[in-house]
Amino acid sequence: MKRSVCIVGGGASGIMAAIAAAQAGAHVTLLEHQDRIGKKILMTGNGKCNLTNLQMGVSAYGISREGSLVGKVLEQFDQNDLMKFFGELGMRMMVTRESYVYPETEAAATVLNVLRRGLKQSDVSCKTDIYIKEIKKEKGFLVCTDHGDFHADSLILACGGRSFPKTGSDGSGFVLAKKLGLRIEKDYPALTAMICKREGLKVIGGLRTEGEASLYIDGHFEASDRGQIQFTDYGISGIPVFQISPPASKALREGKDVRVNVNLFPDMTEREVALEAEKQLHHFGELSFEDAMTGFLHKKWIDYFGKQLGLHKYANAGSIPRERIRAFAKEMTAMIFPVEQVKGYDFCQVTGGGVGLDQVDSHLQAVKIPGLYVVGEMLDVVGKCGGYNLQWAFSTGYIAGCHGAVGEEGFSRL
Ligand SMILES: Cc1cc2nc3c(=O)[nH]c(=O)nc-3n(C[C@H](O)[C@H](O)[C@H](O)COP(=O)(O)OP(=O)(O)OC[C@H]3O[C@@H](n4cnc5c(N)ncnc54)[C@H](O)[C@@H]3O)c2cc1C
Repeated sequence: MKRSVCIVGGGASGIMAAIAAAQAGAHVTLLEHQDRIGKKILMTGNGKCNLTNLQMGVSAYGISREGSLVGKVLEQFDQNDLMKFFGELGMRMMVTRESYVYPETEAAATVLNVLRRGLKQSDVSCKTDIYIKEIKKEKGFLVCTDHGDFHADSLILACGGRSFPKTGSDGSGFVLAKKLGLRIEKDYPALTAMICKREGLKVIGGLRTEGEASLYIDGHFEASDRGQIQFTDYGISGIPVFQISPPASKALREGKDVRVNVNLFPDMTEREVALEAEKQLHHFGELSFEDAMTGFLHKKWIDYFGKQLGLHKYANAGSIPRERIRAFAKEMTAMIFPVEQVKGYDFCQVTGGGVGLDQVDSHLQAVKIPGLYVVGEMLDVVGKCGGYNLQWAFSTGYIAGCHGAVGEEGFSRL
């Protein structure tokens, strides 16, 4: 007789788990409390869906240890397996110079549509607009909903975290997991912008500048990333800021001092920047500070640094003292942004915290609750921007789906 698998949550991880379980021969029911499945997928990669990355490894998940759960998951189902899976679903893909993988249509809807077709072809029963009242652990599981009860031999929790709750990931999965006896690490917003206290942010709001953002927690260097930094009227954003945000978010929650140093010239030393600026100011020595620095920096930066350092924009460029130029170079290479908060769940891409990794085995099965699996963002894993979070959702979904479909005893017989 077919085993029955019930999956709670129709996001990337739940849909993948459903297809994998059905293809492995199970009778699969997917329960989603929104009116549609896969809403978040449509938002990913600015509507293009960056589904994975060819540069895959545990370091993309902030892990240096060999033999970690993340490593074991990727060993079982990595970026090549994912691309093969989507290829078999009939989706063509393209790879950018940075190794990011997108559907060739550059439309996230394509990813969702081929997954929906996969669900249909695998005979998965999808039930939307369904509210889960309670899950009872009996012989297997009894999922009690406002549309009746569902019995399952295996239960896969795929409810996501709390980011963008309007897509359905509202943290209710953590409540279900906790009631079933799993330990939940306190959650926090990750891959998000930072609200900073620094004068003059309105002047530079809207600027996007290549640079390096370095995170310091209680004065100690923690992480850095390079790329296009976005300056806003509340603080800083952009991919480099997102990449260093998980430890910042965690540290703020613990009441620690969090600062970000922004370097607009990461390939030069402060001294080199000072010499270059001095050369420029002397070369156009007859002109004003503003005119002389045109071409060296964006006009908004000239205004900003001028105000910060008391350099009037009409001051004669040739007569600016050397120590002022040095202070100017220091600012350009190490602007300090004290961080007050990170942008919360309505804005962040991923949720940190969640079901502790020691709660599940390498098949994503709860160590103490046979037949229960936890996948995707519900687990305490945060990948970098660049396709790593969807890879995690798809990898864990696939593995749990395959194992849940046959049961662990069945799997060992295969
Ligand atoms: C704006 C944005 C852009 C992103 N871009 C990328 C990107 O380009 N590449 C990348 O790798 N990652 C990206 N991410 C992250 C990625 O989308 C997520 O990590 C991934 O979708 C998580 O998948 P999941 O299945 O675990 O959870 P989710 O996608 O959150 O799905 C969870 C599902 O479970 C349902 N659910 C929740 N609770 C219940 C319940 N109690 N009962 C029934 N159903 C429930 C929800 O409605 C939802 O459908 C982005 C995220 C955001 C917000």
